[in-house]
Amino acid sequence: MKNIIFIAPPAAGKGTVSAMICDKYNIPHISTGDLLRDEIAKETKIGMQIKEIIARGDLVSSDIIVKLLKKRLLEKDAKKGYILDGYPRNIDQARGYDELLKELSGEMGKVIFLDIDKEEALKRVTSRIVCPKCGASYNLMTKELAPVREGICDRCDSKLSVRADDNEETFGKRFDTYMKETYPLIEYYQKAGNLVRIDVNGKSTSEVFEEVKKVIV
Ligand code: AMP
Repeated sequence: MKNIIFIAPPAAGKGTVSAMICDKYNIPHISTGDLLRDEIAKETKIGMQIKEIIARGDLVSSDIIVKLLKKRLLEKDAKKGYILDGYPRNIDQARGYDELLKELSGEMGKVIFLDIDKEEALKRVTSRIVCPKCGASYNLMTKELAPVREGICDRCDSKLSVRADDNEETFGKRFDTYMKETYPLIEYYQKAGNLVRIDVNGKSTSEVFEEVKKVIV
């Protein structure tokens, strides 16, 4: 099983596809967004520092991310492969990740670019609801992605809510940040020979999952 990195604009479906891969191959889904939200939920010192930054849609400092990520990658369940979601988000972080892999003797694996148009991403983001407890993500746009019981998490029975940064204004900012900061990574990983592009426009999650499966095993 290869380590996987997803590069995708907000709401391209990386969270949902990641969850499907993890269920099937029993590897952890390591999302830097989740690691950060966890700090906020636990009201740690880091959590207090980053709460406003995340609500604004700005990027959290690389030092904080690397610290949280290193701790997470050293946990036992990450040894047999993992999905890294939301990191690296810019060239600086990609270099930081190369360094971290060297330090941990880890492997890069595959970098999967989920390509989606801005209009379709916006539609998805404004109909997304999430579970604040277990991180599961649902979408009210299609029945396939909606929770079975309205407003309740299928996995842990918690009440679902809208993420603080899932509104049109913050989406616009996050998308622009993605284009400016993250999009250049495509060339970075293409040159390194690790990149695979999957067009997700108009595709269901299961269709995207089928394409991803072919790349990772
Ligand atoms: P996500 O769940 O990946 O959409 O991330 C939500 C928010 O967490 C982002 O808008 C950023 O504020 C922050 N964040 C997540 N990952 C990173 C990262 N690699 N570098 C900087 N900030 C991040």
